[in-house]
Amino acid sequence: MSIQNIIDTFIEIITLDLIRYIWGTLSISFLLILLSKQLIKRKIQKNYPTKHQRKFEILHSFNSTIVFSVLGTAFIFVYGTPASVIASEQSISVYAFILQVIALAITHDTYFYWTHRAIHHKKIYKYTHTVHHKSRTPTPFTSYSFSLPEAFIQALFFTIALQFVPMHVEALIVYLNILMVRNAVGHSGFELYPNWWLNSPLKFITPVTHHDIHHDRFKYNFGLHFNWWDKICKTEAPYYEARFYEATNQYTIQTAASNITSKL
Ligand SMILES: [Zn+2]
Ligand SMILES: [Zn+2]
Repeated sequence: MSIQNIIDTFIEIITLDLIRYIWGTLSISFLLILLSKQLIKRKIQKNYPTKHQRKFEILHSFNSTIVFSVLGTAFIFVYGTPASVIASEQSISVYAFILQVIALAITHDTYFYWTHRAIHHKKIYKYTHTVHHKSRTPTPFTSYSFSLPEAFIQALFFTIALQFVPMHVEALIVYLNILMVRNAVGHSGFELYPNWWLNSPLKFITPVTHHDIHHDRFKYNFGLHFNWWDKICKTEAPYYEARFYEATNQYTIQTAASNITSKL
């Protein structure tokens, strides 16, 4: 790989990362502004983020894209394009395509949960995860707001996983975009999922309230897409469902009781 190839690869990766971040965060922010009147009752926390916070998040998100791109370029330089990334010219059935996206989401969720638990350890928290938690009331721009070490940990998942999870390159692109939208929605601060979500078979996919509680209270809800690991490891906030019902204006006596418990 020549120097020119390395530069080209870096520019290609960082351009895609930046485009994804910009369109993901701006489209969700635009949606929040557009629906602000309807969404006012769906605000999860009482506080609002400041302008200074948004600037901080955007700055750190740009730094994160540099780390993602440096790591991606270095990986391709050392190992070449991962063997498991199947070239887009090869045809793939719709079922196989969907299966690949789901397999990557499950693998990523597991990696995220355990690395997230690790960076909350008091000995490494201040070196890795404080930047992300500066945003106690998150915004879509919080999505990539990481310290450099945390950005490295986040990007490392893809360099490892793509060695083992067979992935059509277009399935990878679809997953990365789903991830971006879920991140921007998950940090929006408003419960955008429908009222019936937690009473449906889809309840294992976490709505906005799940990660919002993590930003608010730090010690609960470490999962990314799903709540399986939080349930297994008993790290799900006991008042999570009550907070969801409150944010979706389905407040009940049970919700009130759970909220009192959450404040103890
Ligand atoms: Zn977050
Ligand atoms: Zn955290």
